[in-house]
Amino acid sequence: MWPGAKTQVAAVVGHPIRHSLSPVLHNAAFAATRSNWVFLAFDVDVGAGEDAFAGARALGIDGLSVTMPLKDTAARCVDALSATAARLHAVNTVVRENTRLVGHNTDGEGFLDSLRVEASWEPGGRRCVVLGAGGAARAVVLALAGAGAAEVTVVNRTADRAEVAAALAGAVGRVGIAADAAAADLVVNATPVGMAGTKGTDWELVTSRLAGAGQLVVDLVYRPVGAGPTPFLAAAAAQGAATLGGLGMLVHQAARAFTLWTGQPAPVAVMVEAAEAAQRSQEAAEN
Ligand code: NAP
Repeated sequence: MWPGAKTQVAAVVGHPIRHSLSPVLHNAAFAATRSNWVFLAFDVDVGAGEDAFAGARALGIDGLSVTMPLKDTAARCVDALSATAARLHAVNTVVRENTRLVGHNTDGEGFLDSLRVEASWEPGGRRCVVLGAGGAARAVVLALAGAGAAEVTVVNRTADRAEVAAALAGAVGRVGIAADAAAADLVVNATPVGMAGTKGTDWELVTSRLAGAGQLVVDLVYRPVGAGPTPFLAAAAAQGAATLGGLGMLVHQAARAFTLWTGQPAPVAVMVEAAEAAQRSQEAAEN
């Protein structure tokens, strides 16, 4: 009987949340694996974050996905952190272990999975430039350095945030400028520029300096302005670079969360199909 008294509950918390693809991804995965789980979305802004995690604890919710602006609140509210979540001071996945809530961060590993699975690309020995220094950028910087990148250069409009992000890469991390993109093997946009609902960009500065052929250019944005690729990826492709959008990272970080909650391998192909279908229908509704 689904849903029933034994159905396990997982949910995404954050604000805004009504555009989230997480329920579609996870419910497709639960259905494909015949798991007695259900996945919901709760609109929780930062002022209600602590209450939300206390509520999840009291209700015995088995899994949480955590998105903006609650990733650092989650890191404070859980009982224990994985090593990666502790380094980042940010949690995107909460797992209930009996009465304890354990915080993980699967964004960086999800990003690496996406590079490897979708672009057959390995960071070992490569020069990488990350544009932005927020939560997503920091997860990517830590993951690239952990995967053996030769250089991880952070370019950000606010200098002190760039320093903090670059420090996560240890000896291979440094703060750079937009022109560094020309010599990179990998360029990652980890800012919201190009995302539906955002305005303002100085990315012409960067795209005019991309080298093109031989580079992999990744945009973490998965809800582009309009249909098709983001302006950043369109410019990179026009210059001959290989390109990758942000939907793959979204799916792979979710796949890792699914495994943390259920102990099962995630049905990644089912999740990709569900995400692409949901994205197409969102785009059709918005355009
Ligand atoms: P965040 O913590 O708010 O950080 C945003 C970063 O972008 C900051 O470094 C900020 O610079 C920079 N920025 C914002 N607006 C800018 C502009 N107009 N020009 C130049 N730089 C700008 O956000 P986040 O959580 O890291 O998310 C960043 C993007 O990644 C979002 O589009 C999000 O949807 C996406 N994302 C994707 C995935 C995925 O699975 N594909 C996962 C997480 C995030 P300052 O430091 O100067 O403010």
